[in-house]
Order: sequence, then structure tokens, then C-alpha cells
Amino acid sequence: MTDHQRTTTEATTDAGAGADAVPEPYLTELAPGVHAFIQPDGGWCLNNAGFVTDGTATLVVDTAATERRARLLRRRIAETGAPVPRTVVNTHHHGDHTYGNGVFAPEATIIGHAACRREVLAAGYQLHAVWPEVTYGDIRLTPPEVTFEDRMTVHVGESEVQLIHPGPAHTLGDTVVWLPRQRVVFTGDLVFHGGTPFVLMGSLSGSLRAIELLRSLGAETVVPGHGPVAGPEVYDEVEGYLRFVGELAREGRAAGRTPLEVAREADLGAFAGLAERERLVANLLRAYAELDGAAPGAPLDVVAGFQAMAEMNGGVAPACHA
Ligand SMILES: [Zn+2]
Repeated sequence: MTDHQRTTTEATTDAGAGADAVPEPYLTELAPGVHAFIQPDGGWCLNNAGFVTDGTATLVVDTAATERRARLLRRRIAETGAPVPRTVVNTHHHGDHTYGNGVFAPEATIIGHAACRREVLAAGYQLHAVWPEVTYGDIRLTPPEVTFEDRMTVHVGESEVQLIHPGPAHTLGDTVVWLPRQRVVFTGDLVFHGGTPFVLMGSLSGSLRAIELLRSLGAETVVPGHGPVAGPEVYDEVEGYLRFVGELAREGRAAGRTPLEVAREADLGAFAGLAERERLVANLLRAYAELDGAAPGAPLDVVAGFQAMAEMNGGVAPACHA
């Protein structure tokens, strides 16, 4: 979908109509008992989720931005015959990945990185603040109640589910969900497939380190945070884009130009086909901060970042089609 189409459909303030503007989510089985829940078109708020089951237990990876979509995920899981999920892992705190936690609690225990819990609590109704026009339904903020710092392993029958924190990357509290036996990885938003990577709330250098970590796992199947399932070749595009942002930031800062000026004039080259191009200015804000010596994940003005992205879009805020 082009940016123009997204802008046009954004004019429908009714979230039901907005939901009609994109195809319905679908399930895809990646290995026996391992499914991805893919939400086209993978744009803002349309994240992926998934689940792992052995027929006696079910672990869910991420939820969705609205009650309707989270209930649909829950229904799709039940339709496969999998038991009621007792575990949900959040790959990070963003509302598209966590707003639906309440649809799975209290039967399910929510697990996430310690910083994911802190940020869910700090961010509150984060999507409502950015996209008040969306019909979210009954959203009960439900932060992870079991947290970890570095690594944790959860067993779903014979399947080992490794939770690995890569350090600050897309956010401060990212988790990679790695199934070594099935060689499937759920990357959360460390990987966007077809969309533009987004490091405003995390770290550019840390995102590059996260890609290194992902490569080291040797996954055959990669479930990105947004966009269709891929193989490990998807890492090349993400890494190439992140290095491109770093290069633009170094040149632009040396020339005394602002991130918005640099983003507006940038020749995107090989990355011109990525959706959510407006994220470039937000990524440059983070890259500039790191060049100025900011630690990975140091707080930045997120509101200013979203305003800059709206300016990139000709004054129109990026649209959420959840
Ligand atoms: Zn995210």
C-alpha cells in the first residue's frame, strides 16, 4: 500500500472502517505447533504475533493493538485445537504488541524484560495518545508480571523457548523469542519486513548489535515484528538501512543540518520501497543523539519525534489501521 493510500484511508475516523481498509490477519504454521499471526499490511499498529503449542500447553508471543484483534488472535489459537494460553511473552512494550495482554490475562502469565514492564507502566495508554481516533475496545493495561534481565527459558512440552534480551535496540526492553529445535525466531520490532526500521525509542548502535545477535542464532524462519514471514536474508536489508541512517547522520551533523533537513533531502536509494519512510527523521534524531554522546536508549523527546514524522508526511500524522 502506498503512503497516499494510507493517508486517504486515514480520513475514515471510524475504526471499523479503518479495519476494513486492510486485509484480515492470518495464521501460518511454521513448524509443527509453531504459528505466526500476521497482520497485513504490517504498518503502524499492525504487528505480528504467534504461538507455540504441543497440545498440552500454549505460549503466545505478543498480542495486538485493539481488543477486537486480540480476541481474533485468541479465537484463531482456539480454532487450531490448542489449549487456552497460560503464557504470553511480550517482545517489547509498544501498545500494538501489549495492548491485548488483558484479553489473555488472568489465565495467562505475562512475561517480558524488566524494562518492558517499566515502559508499559510509564507509557500508559500510549496508542490512545498518538491515535485517538482508533476504536481500541476494552484495553486493560497489563504489564509483564514475570520479568527477566538477560535470558530466560520457558518450556512448552518438548519445545524450548529461549527469551534473549539483546540490550537497548528497538526499545530498552526488547526480547528475542528463539526456538532452537524448530530454528524459528520471533524478533519483535528488531526486524521490520517491508517497513522502515524504527529506533527512536531505543538505539541505532544497539539495533546493529541486535542484528548480529540474531544472525548468531542461525534461524531458518524469521517472524518479524511487522510484515510477512521471512528467512534470515531479511537481516541484510535491516542492517543496510541502519548503516545508511548512521552514514546520513554523520554527514548531516558534520554539515550542521538538522535531522528533518537531512531526512527531507535524503536519496533513499535501495530503501525507497520501504513503507513508513517518515521514520527516517525519527531514526536520525536517535542517531544524532548517539553521535552527541547519548548512551544507547537514553530518553529522547518522543512527542517531538512523532511531530517530525508528521512534518515529513506533509503535516499528516502517520496512520494507524488497527
Ligand atoms: Zn515496536
